[in-house]
Amino acid sequence: MKRIYLDYAATTPVLKEVLDEMLPYFSENFANPATLYASGKKAKNALEEARHVIADFINAKSDEIVFTSGGTESNNFAIKGLASANKDKNHIITSSIEHHAILEPLKFLKSQGYEITYIPVDCDGLVNPKDIEEAITDKTLLISIMHANNEIGTIQPIEEIGKIAKKHKIYFHTDAVQTLGHIDIDVEKLNVDLLSASSHKIYGPNGVGLLYIRKGVKINPFMHGGEQEFKKRASTHNLAGIVGFKKAIQIAKNEMYSEAKRLTYLRDKLINGILENIEETKLNGHRQKRLPNNVNISLSHIEGESILLSLDMFNIECATGSACTSSTLMSSHVILAIGVPAETAHSSIRFTLGKFTTEEDIDYVLKSLIQVVNNLRLMSPLTN
Ligand SMILES: *Cc1c(COP(=O)(O)O)cnc(C)c1O
Repeated sequence: MKRIYLDYAATTPVLKEVLDEMLPYFSENFANPATLYASGKKAKNALEEARHVIADFINAKSDEIVFTSGGTESNNFAIKGLASANKDKNHIITSSIEHHAILEPLKFLKSQGYEITYIPVDCDGLVNPKDIEEAITDKTLLISIMHANNEIGTIQPIEEIGKIAKKHKIYFHTDAVQTLGHIDIDVEKLNVDLLSASSHKIYGPNGVGLLYIRKGVKINPFMHGGEQEFKKRASTHNLAGIVGFKKAIQIAKNEMYSEAKRLTYLRDKLINGILENIEETKLNGHRQKRLPNNVNISLSHIEGESILLSLDMFNIECATGSACTSSTLMSSHVILAIGVPAETAHSSIRFTLGKFTTEEDIDYVLKSLIQVVNNLRLMSPLTN
């Protein structure tokens, strides 16, 4: 029987068209884009074409796009690069539900003497821009708020927060790894100075990402050792990866809106099906301000891990919390931050839909989940 993959927020398969576009760059077109002979120039052209296509997609200029190894590096680069280039300021504002690739670099800066303010979120996972404005001091260097949350799918009011940052002349970064290629991104409209994105969350290859850096932002390189990427990011380009990233963006450009509409329908069918057919369930994250592909549900009296493993036997693949925390038994910081009590935070489960998800899949998942939950609750010592 086929496997039903519903963990697209963790990673996505590389599309056939993307792979085809990449293949020549491993063999025939292997030259280093930094070299000056003909094949090097050809490689350089491919690199710059990719940069142009991607920049255009987010309404940026080509020289504002720096290719990196992925979302994690882009987030580390933004935070540590700004910190080291702007030593006169030592305060950073973020939210309590950021990805670990934001929270951990900030924890590191805290150990180096920085002050970090974590803005709480409401029960839907939304940050209140007023709270951000109130947290600003004359030492504030950066506001970093994710575009959409990877666990509960809530989309933040980035445009509004950007206006506040602009008004106070504070750098504004957003982790857009979950949104690029899925919902509209326009760096001008969003008022962001820096933006992180990753290829493997949008049907491109692993190990490629980007940091958008608005012209004029004072930032130090994170990687030293070469003059690539406007001297901002050393290391020989992952050209095959970058070309694949470009192709994934071109496909997203054509299909994003119709795909978002299709996924929203499937998402809502799954959410409503669960809430109507299974008792004591709660949707985590905002009902409307939500990624088109995200379903995150708490089911009381059962461990999320038990549901995940039972669904695996039905050939269904999903997540509890985020992929990074699923090997530990710690409750998700995101689920706790939206006010779910610690006893039930363990029982949350995430389905993230994607390009290969069909309506039959959703019907099958719903049917299977009802059966799994009934069985587990019958066995659970927590039920009585
Ligand atoms: C996946 C993810 C990252 C990490 O990106 P990588 O390319 O895997 O390093 C960062 N932030 C968010 C919100 C993510 O979902």
